[in-house]
Amino acid sequence: MEYSDLTFRPSANIAELRESATIAVSQRAKALRAEGREVIDLGAGEPDFDTPEPIRRAAQAAIDAGATRYTAVNGILPLREAIAEQGSALFKGDAILPTDVVVSSGSKQSLYNACLTLFGPGDEVLIPTPSWTSYYEMVGLARATAVEVHGDPAQGFKVDPARLERDATPRTRGIMLNSPSNPTGAVYSRDELRAILDLAASRGWWVICDEIYQRISYDAPAPSALEVATRRDNLIVINGVAKAWAMTGWRVGWTVSPGPVAKAMTALQSHTTSNAAAVSQHAALAALTLGAPVDDAVRAMVAEFKARRDAAYPILKSSRALTVLPPEGAFYFYVRVPGAGSGPGAGDVFAQKVLEEQGVAIVPGSAFRTSDWVRISYATEKSQVVEACRRIVATADAMA
Ligand code: GLU
Repeated sequence: MEYSDLTFRPSANIAELRESATIAVSQRAKALRAEGREVIDLGAGEPDFDTPEPIRRAAQAAIDAGATRYTAVNGILPLREAIAEQGSALFKGDAILPTDVVVSSGSKQSLYNACLTLFGPGDEVLIPTPSWTSYYEMVGLARATAVEVHGDPAQGFKVDPARLERDATPRTRGIMLNSPSNPTGAVYSRDELRAILDLAASRGWWVICDEIYQRISYDAPAPSALEVATRRDNLIVINGVAKAWAMTGWRVGWTVSPGPVAKAMTALQSHTTSNAAAVSQHAALAALTLGAPVDDAVRAMVAEFKARRDAAYPILKSSRALTVLPPEGAFYFYVRVPGAGSGPGAGDVFAQKVLEEQGVAIVPGSAFRTSDWVRISYATEKSQVVEACRRIVATADAMA
């Protein structure tokens, strides 16, 4: 057979896979800019800040000190120790050990490791909806079934045990939680988290709790599942440095899980990427352990996100045509658009219109399985966020 005779057919593994819409929107915004168009990118869930200077310096020093080789697959010991120590300070039960921690190339890989390790064919996984686009695809890549559990918009789309029970079946194996939430910005309270953890424990479900935005919370601290859990033999907590420390490009995330799960995820990772980049792990270690100089920088970034939220929220709220959820954490507004309910894809139509007519990139809610909505990121400079929200309102109110 000639090479030219080969036709590409995606394998059964990825036949159903959809490209990441959150990534696609940012790439589209970049491409339009490269063509010379002025675009305000409120698509990306990526802080616009540089990584704090002490972290960058620590990484440079680590390179010079020889952090250029393979490390242990599950990560360098001092980083796993720091993560375990910070987790132990929250969890009331036995100490979390460094062997309970797996460091990966971004919390995306941590989530993927967890899904592949815990779920398989025939399993159902409850996903409070809307949720971040990749949860659904990762569960699918594990060949399990993602079950959308639609929350009530009046409750910020949060789900409770009664709501979860309605979609549970004997095949349910786990639930994916995310607080603060991407895309809604909702934060689960301690009581809300505890109720879900108790239900999962009583039903023998795994809980994967993604806390990547935990430090980005404006009105009250966002509780970690580790703080409220009475046991963690069914709990995998995901975190990483990307968002709170403005370190998206370094690609460092981690899981805190029961030891046997950590061991299995390490085995999986040993056949895929091996260790996260050595220098990035040293940068993450600096983020977690340098103390005041870094913590002050994180606080300043969170204060700036809050200032943006407070400046832009009233603008969106003033629209006659939009419904906006009050965000308590992360850096997203989740907004119901005009034309909602009139057919599939109102959010896609609106996002396209706003990009074409106003030069503002936002993510259609179909990415999060709620197609009447759009996500607006405010991880961009304040005056740009304010200007873009004014334009979004102008488009929406003209349609109403
Ligand atoms: N998590 C961010 C977002 O939702 C980054 C892009 C991605 O990895 O999906 O925009």
